[in-house]
Order: sequence, then structure tokens, then C-alpha cells
Amino acid sequence: MPHDDRTALRRLHRAPEPTVQAPLVHAASLPPNQAATVQTRARSLVRAARAAYKPGADVTDFLKEYGLGTTEGVALLCLAEALLRIPDAATADALIEDRIGGGDWQHHVGRGESLAVNASAWAFMLTGRVLTVEEAQHGIAATIARMIRRMGEPVIRTALRRGMRVLARQFVMGRTIDEALARANTTEGRRWRYSFDMLGEAAKTQADAERYRRSYIDAIGAIGRAAAGRAPADAPQISVKLSALHPRYEDLQQARCVPALITALGTLALAAKQHAIGLTIDAEEADRLELSLDILDAVLGDARLAGWEGLGLAVQAYQKRASAVLDWVAALGRRTAHRIPVRLVKGAYWDTEIKLAQVQGHADYPVFTRKAATDVSWLANAQRILAAGDAIDPAFATHNAHSLAFVLATAVGAKFEMQRLHGMGEALYDGVVGPACPVRVYAPVGTHEDLLAYLVRRLLENGANTSFVHRLVDASVPEDAIIDDPVARVRSVGLTPNPRIPLPRDLYPDRRNSAGVDLADRDEVAALVNDIAGPVPKLPLSDAREIRSPADRRILVGHVTDATPADIDSALDRLHAGWRDWDAAGGANRATVLERAADLIEAARTELLALLAREAGKTLADGIAEIREAVDFCRWYAARAREQFAGPREFPGPTGERNTWELGGRGVFAAISPWNFPLSIFIGQVTAALAAGNAVAAKPAEQTPLIAERAVALLRQAGVPDTVLALLQGDGNVGQALVADPRIAGVAFTGGTGTAQSIARSLAQRGGPLVPFIAETGGINAMIVDSSALPEQVVTDVLAGAFGAAGQRCSALRLLCLQEDTADRVLHMLQGAAEALVIGDPLDPATDVGPVIDAAARDALQRASAGLGTALFELRLPPGTGHGTFFAPRAFVLDGAGDLQAEIFGPVLCIVRYAADRLDALLESIEAIGYGLTLGIHTRIESTQRRITQRLRIGNTYINRNQVGAVVGVQPFGGRGLSGTGPKAGGPITLYRFAEERVVSVNTAAAGGNAALLASDTE
Ligand SMILES: Cc1cc2nc3c(=O)[nH]c(=O)nc-3n(C[C@H](O)[C@H](O)[C@H](O)COP(=O)(O)OP(=O)(O)OC[C@H]3O[C@@H](n4cnc5c(N)ncnc54)[C@H](O)[C@@H]3O)c2cc1C
Repeated sequence: MPHDDRTALRRLHRAPEPTVQAPLVHAASLPPNQAATVQTRARSLVRAARAAYKPGADVTDFLKEYGLGTTEGVALLCLAEALLRIPDAATADALIEDRIGGGDWQHHVGRGESLAVNASAWAFMLTGRVLTVEEAQHGIAATIARMIRRMGEPVIRTALRRGMRVLARQFVMGRTIDEALARANTTEGRRWRYSFDMLGEAAKTQADAERYRRSYIDAIGAIGRAAAGRAPADAPQISVKLSALHPRYEDLQQARCVPALITALGTLALAAKQHAIGLTIDAEEADRLELSLDILDAVLGDARLAGWEGLGLAVQAYQKRASAVLDWVAALGRRTAHRIPVRLVKGAYWDTEIKLAQVQGHADYPVFTRKAATDVSWLANAQRILAAGDAIDPAFATHNAHSLAFVLATAVGAKFEMQRLHGMGEALYDGVVGPACPVRVYAPVGTHEDLLAYLVRRLLENGANTSFVHRLVDASVPEDAIIDDPVARVRSVGLTPNPRIPLPRDLYPDRRNSAGVDLADRDEVAALVNDIAGPVPKLPLSDAREIRSPADRRILVGHVTDATPADIDSALDRLHAGWRDWDAAGGANRATVLERAADLIEAARTELLALLAREAGKTLADGIAEIREAVDFCRWYAARAREQFAGPREFPGPTGERNTWELGGRGVFAAISPWNFPLSIFIGQVTAALAAGNAVAAKPAEQTPLIAERAVALLRQAGVPDTVLALLQGDGNVGQALVADPRIAGVAFTGGTGTAQSIARSLAQRGGPLVPFIAETGGINAMIVDSSALPEQVVTDVLAGAFGAAGQRCSALRLLCLQEDTADRVLHMLQGAAEALVIGDPLDPATDVGPVIDAAARDALQRASAGLGTALFELRLPPGTGHGTFFAPRAFVLDGAGDLQAEIFGPVLCIVRYAADRLDALLESIEAIGYGLTLGIHTRIESTQRRITQRLRIGNTYINRNQVGAVVGVQPFGGRGLSGTGPKAGGPITLYRFAEERVVSVNTAAAGGNAALLASDTE
């Protein structure tokens, strides 16, 4: 296969599990006698490890007792993740109180029988000292109870912080590379080889990346000096995460990040070569795999590295692509005449991969869904590596006795090393490590602030009940179960996927999930971009109104003819006459039409993406999300129509009567939608009204008529008759004419609060029947961030909330409230991360921020931000944006939340700081603003989450995530107060508001008496 041929690899990426597993099962199957040898070896490894296990010796004990299925296990995880980064006492105490001060724990302490282990484990946490069982049994319960009663006092805080450090020390080799090297150089340390890992979160800013690069360079120097004189194979090495070396290590940013990372990694590789030590690239999220291959390929091609065989790669067996990656690496090794060290791992991001695939609506998962399938893949790929001995230098990383025994039995005569993580698997390897089987320890180095993310991964791994290390120390798991042959297990279930993890499209019980686009699938993205970026059609001259692209006003996107009063009149006549048949057709029939519409919208994705980019300035990612939302609306309302409009429902009552209740349409709805979601909100309003049995006069925003036209064409193609859907283009006057017309039986509106108020007035003035008015308006949406939050996560969510979609979402973050203790750090990172955003042409897939909708919007933003004083930062508009209506994202610091009184509809972020003890005052000032659409909360403290959500009544609250992108039927969306009337869009009761209730009571005894009653006494 040519070196750049990734075909095989891409074919496997999200392939069905049985297809991928079949060859792996075959490759991992051993002849019966060899399989029996593996079992015997695994059994003796397990026995030895269990015999060496000392209860209470470390955190394993704690995790064995509590596991991650218990409150205490999760409490530990949460404390471990957050406590050490909280600078202020008040928040640290609140977190402690929140996590271990609750009633549950008191109950647990008093439970008696397992008290010794509980108490000893907690004592370990609290004091960093293991108590004897005797100590624990006699007095520790009282001690802990007393400590908990006095929770919040400095002594507890200090003790817990110390406990966390002890906990961390189990998994971290040293705070500095020198400390780690010294520990490696002890008598015990010298039994192992090492690969040092410099801990840290992924870089968010260029400055972070530079700091990590320097720390890697320094570490390589120190490791090199310590290695002097040792054979290269024995020498310690370094492991590197590419995400630490660039703030945008993402596939869509490849044009920018790959060259930068080739340079950065090249520098590190040259330094490693100089010092004759190895360097391994860690494997990260599946989305980044191809990037890492590009970078490895380029760096290995550097002639200055000739003769050095130290640049290696970790390959994850849980990925379906693993075997193709290995083939690719072997081909690369042969082509560049390098033997490439490969570390075969199972993989550390499994839960993240599953969630991402579900959230993004991918066709399938990139990883296996059964643990045994991952094990089998590891075994099969171990064989593959051994067979590629001419090009690959093998290293096998596992803490699993069966996996280890398998390699020991099948790698006889081959040169290889085993690898384990520091703090794990020591007892397993104790009797194995030696010259015949060298074992390398992956040894993290870093201070407490840097280790938290790593620590959480390790705790998850040690606490999960599928994990080998967890089962090993759990005496209730029998030996046979622990050394179970995964090949047999996979065969016994017929290679099928895990039924408890449905495919992303099957996530919902009554509808198909909308399909996403895998933005790391280069073939798919290339095809999409190619189709979208086709030439702009030459449009004939026309008297009609011109629609020009906000990204470049020179580009004519199309023309639109606005509705005249006569058009409106005749449309309303038609709809008024037509809606009853549609209503009578019933929910199920209407649902079928809407489901067809969903499929048609999905099929028209490319064309719609192009239109969304050209007419509305939507980036690729925003366009995809918008199309998915439109599809979800169709399917959600179809499912609700089936459920809620299924015909009359009979209510129990006195004999001789039949009482039925049913929902039906109201008549003709006016649906008035905005330009910021020209497809999804348009479709959402129209399909809700249609699903409930109404006809719809749809008036899209005057800026985005072409998308609406296309949407209507698709609805018609799906079977929505002309008699129940009319598209009336134009400005506010068309909307006004509709609202004022007595033939309109209800109004659904999304847009500004002021316009909503004027519609309400107009409805009140028009006389005649009172009709429902469903309004979704704006918001001054806040995000509250306390000092327990993870700054990296906060920054990612702030950028998505405030600057994503150029800030033109009603849900967008407008007011960021930072606890003053960590505000500087967050703001510093925010500015650096914002500077790494790409502003530009929405048709370019690398673009993060496109234009604002038109010159009027841009001018309004200029005026509003001029009133906010000096910006904390303002991004620079790049060249090439001059012909569009771009507005540079920017941030301002205000004195108080009350300083922001009006929604600024664009990429303008306002920031306030608050003191921890002034949270209530902050909540009061947010409440006083009067809006209630979205709210973000970043805190690890559940009681703070409750306190905020109980105080601020906000339509949609998002905790520890961003506050945009509500998913239909999952996060029904809409606000209260100045933000809207409800019901929420995409919710369980949305259609009720579009419907009328009808009750029919029949006196069944009227004609000739109560025959049914008389016939009821059948005995
Ligand atoms: C030296 C070393 C370096 C490492 N470097 C990396 C690295 O760069 N990148 C990386 O991602 N990982 C890396 N890991 C792997 C990771 O951190 C875990 O330690 C490893 O996956 C545990 O494997 P095991 O054989 O010890 O445990 P086992 O308990 O036998 O296996 C655990 C594996 O099964 C997977 N699993 C659990 N449930 C399921 C399920 N339902 N379906 C499918 N799979 C499931 C887990 O995700 C995990 O991968 C490294 C590990 C070591 C030892």
C-alpha cells in the first residue's frame, strides 16, 4: 500500500463490529493446547498478584470497596478532580462538605461490618496514613464522624488535600523530572525501564503549547543525561502528547496544526536522537489519529533523523482501525528505513468516544462496544506486530494477566518489551520482569495542578467493574472469570455489539436520530466541501429583491419576490379552506408526511449546507447542526402527532354516556421565523403547526428567504399539500398583515422581544377570537463559574457559547460571571484560546467564526460595544473579510451584571467578577435583568448548582457544559420572562399549544334506554 493510502484504515473507522471482529477473532485464536497454556500462566500470575496484595496499602483498596457505582466512589473521583486546583478556602470547604459531608456518608460509617475497610480507606484519604485494622475498628468511626461534623474547618481541608496528594503520588512518579529520575534510580526503580510523561491538560493557547514544548525539551535533556552510557533499549524514554503542543490539534485545522506540529515534534525528536533516547507519541482521541499519522510520517522523513530508531507511536486496540494502523505504520517503517517502536495499548478514552459518537450522530462507533472485543483486538494485533518484526519494534502495554500470558506464550523468541503504568500492575509483573521480559513503566511527572485529568483517568480505570485491575483485587470475582479467554467470550455472543449501547441513530425509542457528519473523516469532508464550494450559479437579472452573501456582499446568492397584500389574502383564503382536511387526516397520516420530510432534508444536506453558508454565513459545523435540528424537529413532532393526535380518547363516567376528548388543529397559524436559524426554526415552527393539524402561513426572515424556499419545496415533495402551507416572503409588514388578519388562528414567533411585544399588542387590538401566541425571544444569558471549575473546560464552553455562530444565537452566552479567585487565570486562557480561533469564509471548513448577517447588524454591534468602554480583548479580522459584514469577537469587563441591560446580538462577551461570598447578590442582579432563556453553571459543587438553579428560574440551564445547541426532544428549548411565552420548542407539550381540545358527550341511553347496562348482568 502506498504510504499515504489510508483507504483500509478509513474503511474500518466506523465499520459494523461483526465485520471488524471476524478477522481479529481468527487471528487471536490459538490451538487448544496453547490456549490452555495461556490460561495456566494467567492463573498463576493472578494468584501471585492476589497473594502480594496488601489490603489498605493504597487507593486500590478504596476503589475496591466503593467502586464507581457508589456515592463515595464518585465523591472520591470528584474530590480528586477538583480539590487541588481550588485556591480559596470557602470553595474548597464547600466542595468537601458537598462530597463527603452528606447524610449518606454518616449512614455508611455506621454500617458496621465493612467498617474496618471503609474507615481505613477514608483515614488514608483524610490523613495520608494507613491505619491498622485495629485502630480502624476502635475509634476511627468516631474520629471520622467528629471530623465530618466539624467539616469546613481548616484541619479537614488540609487533611483532605494531603490525602489527595498521597492518592496522586500513587500514579505520579515525581513532581519534577529530576525527582522522577531519582526515584527510578533506586534499587527497586532499577528493575524497570521507564517512559516519562510530562503531565498537563491539552494546550488551549499558543503560550501553553510553547510552555509544554519547553518542558519536553528540558525533560529530554535530563533523561538523556541520566541515560548516558545505557544501551538505547534500556534507556529511559519520553512520551509526548501532541495535543499539548498545539492549541488547535483538530482535523479541520490540519492546514495550520500539522505543519506546526511537524516542526515542534521534529525539534523534540532531534533532541531525543542527540541524547539517544526514545520518544513515543501517545494515542489520544480517535478524531486525532490521522493527524498523528501525518505528523509521524513527515517527521520520520526528516533526513537528520536517519539512523535513529527511537520515534514511536502508541496504537489503541479498542479502535476498529487498529490493525490497519499497524499495517500503515509497518509500511511507513519499510519506506523510511526506520524500525518504528509501537506501543500496543487498549485505550484510555473509551467513554468519551462512545459519548461523542452519540452526540454527533455518527453512523457507528470508532471503538468496540464490548470489553472482550477490545481484548481480542489487542491479542490479534499483538500477533500482527510480531509478524511485522522487520519494521516494528514491539511493546505491549497491559495490566491484564490473560493479555500478558498470551504475549508471553506467543512471542517466544521475539524481541519485545511489556509496559505498565506507574502505580499499576506492579504485583502482576513482579515475577515476570527481568532480562527475558523487560518491562517499561509509563511514569507521569508533574505537580498536583497538572495531574488532575490523568488522575481521573486512572481512577476510572481502577474503579470500573469491567477493568482487569479492579477485578483482580476484588476477591468476590473468581479466578476463572478473571482469566476468561476473550476469544471464547466474543464467540459466545456471536461477535455482536453490546445491546446496551445502541447505535447513535437508534438512541431514541420512537424516532431515528438525525445523522451527523464526521468532521474527522477526510473523505467525507473533502467530498462535502467540494460539493458545497461549487461555483455560484449565474443568476439572471431580475426585478426581484437581491440576496447577497454576508461573507462577501459581491456574491449574489439569489432573488426573492416578496408577497403583496393580494398574495397574502389569496394564500389565507386557500389555507383557511384547506386546513380541515389536513386536520381530519389524523396524527398518524401527518406523521408519515413529516417523517418523509425529515428524510428529504437529510438527503438534501449538501445543497442546504451550501445555502446556509452563502445566504446566512453559517460555518460548516453550524450548518450541520442546524440541518440535524431541522430533521429532529420533523421526527419529534411526527412522533408526538402519532401519540397525541391518535383520535378520541374515552373518559370514564356515568353509565348511559360516552365521553370522548381529542386534540385537533386550530386553523391557520402564522409562523414568523428569524434569520439566525433560517432552516431549523423555520422548519420547527412549521412542522409543529402542521403536526397538530393546522395550516401554516410561513413568513421567514427577509434576510434568508432562499433557505425557506428550499425548505418549503422539500415539505411539498414530502406530501404537504399547497392547501395547508403557504410561503409569504417579505419584511415585517408581511408579518404584521398576517398577525392582524382574522383568519389567523394562532401565531408562532421567534425573534426580538420588542417585536414579540408589538405582535401581542396587535393581536389584542384586532378583536374577534383570542388566539394563542407562542413567542421565543432573546436573552441576556449568563454563565456562572466558581473556582472549582476546570478552566480549560470553561474556556472551551465560553468560546462555543459566546463566539460560536458569531454570537448570533438567542441562547448565546452574553454575561460571563467569574469567581474572582480564579478569574485572572480563566481570562488569560480565554484570551489566548480566542486568539486561536479562525475568522473567515464560512465555506472554508477551518472557519470557526463567520460574518454577522448584514450591515445593519454589524453597525448595531459597533454602537453597542462602543458603549461598553475599552475591550479586554478584540480579535483581529483577517485579510479577505473586507467585502463581508464581519465583526471581530471581543470581550469587555463590566463592574456589575446590571450594567448590561440589552441583548447584544453578536460575538460580544461581557464579563463580571464576583466574590465567593457575594454569589447571592450576583444571582439577584442576574434575576433583575428579567430574561430567562439559558444559563451556564460551571462548578463541581452540587449544592451550588442547586442553589443557583433554585434561585434563577431559567428556561434552559446547562451545568459543566456550554449553553448552546439544545437538542430536540432531549433538551426542549425556550425561555420565560422577557425570553418567551413557552411552550418549549421540541418538547413533550409543544403541540398542545398549537391544538384545540374537543370534547363530545353522547347520551347513549337517549334512544330507547340503556341497553348496555341492562345487558351487563350476564351471570
Ligand atoms: C504503558 C502504557 C501506556 C499507555 N498509553 C496510552 C496512550 O497513549 N493512549 C491511550 O489511549 N491509552 C494508553 N494506555 C492504555 C490505558 O491507559 C489503559 O491502561 C489500558 O487500556 C488498560 O488496559 P489493560 O489491558 O490493562 O486493562 P483491561 O481492564 O484488560 O482493559 C481495559 C480496556 O478495555 C476497554 N473497555 C472497557 N469496557 C469496554 C467496552 N464495553 N467495550 C470496549 N472496550 C471496553 C477500556 O476502554 C480499556 O481500553 C497506556 C497503557 C499503558 C500500560
